Amino acid sequence: MLRWMRAPGIFKIFFPSFVWRYNSGAKKVYLTFDDGPIPESTLWTLNLLKEKNIKATFFCVGDNVHKYPELYQNILTDGHAVGNHTYNHLKGWSVDTQRYIENVIMASDLIDSKLFRPPYGLIKNSQAKHLLPEYKIIMWDVLSGDFRKDITPEQCLRDVLKKVRPGSIISFHNHQKTKANMQYAVPRLIDELKLQGYEFDVCR
Ligand SMILES: [Zn+2]
Repeated sequence: MLRWMRAPGIFKIFFPSFVWRYNSGAKKVYLTFDDGPIPESTLWTLNLLKEKNIKATFFCVGDNVHKYPELYQNILTDGHAVGNHTYNHLKGWSVDTQRYIENVIMASDLIDSKLFRPPYGLIKNSQAKHLLPEYKIIMWDVLSGDFRKDITPEQCLRDVLKKVRPGSIISFHNHQKTKANMQYAVPRLIDELKLQGYEFDVCR
């Protein structure tokens, strides 16, 4: 399932109104964590971000917010940004537009945000059209590959470092399956990017 999360470059041509990267020219990066909040990973992430004194953006699944409201509250209390990632982590291409939009609205009862990220990066034109007046659709230009079983944590880190440039939106996950790669790569990535003079900001 997780392998579908790569967004081919061609999507950028079809969806120019989505945010793929921030082009302000500032030497900033935007760390994002999808699919939480979950106890196995989100608390660890929050502690790390606190220790490194940086902010990030969490694209939350409504059902997880419903299950772990305290964790969700912790994200907000720590000053991070949140975004809507549907209620049931729906794959846009596999469901009709009405069901998709209803699922986003259901999540919006729990997640107060005007940011949206489609699960798997897959969304139909008709679904995007419905959401765009309300939401800023935030994609990424650096997909960490933390969900890949065929790479080592070291390679995950190397791949991200190779792709990062000013304004990059970097995608990681708060998911059980991505824990090993993510927990190795993110702290080292933060340290290295700080050394290179990058600042960390939240999506908006
Ligand atoms: Zn997701």
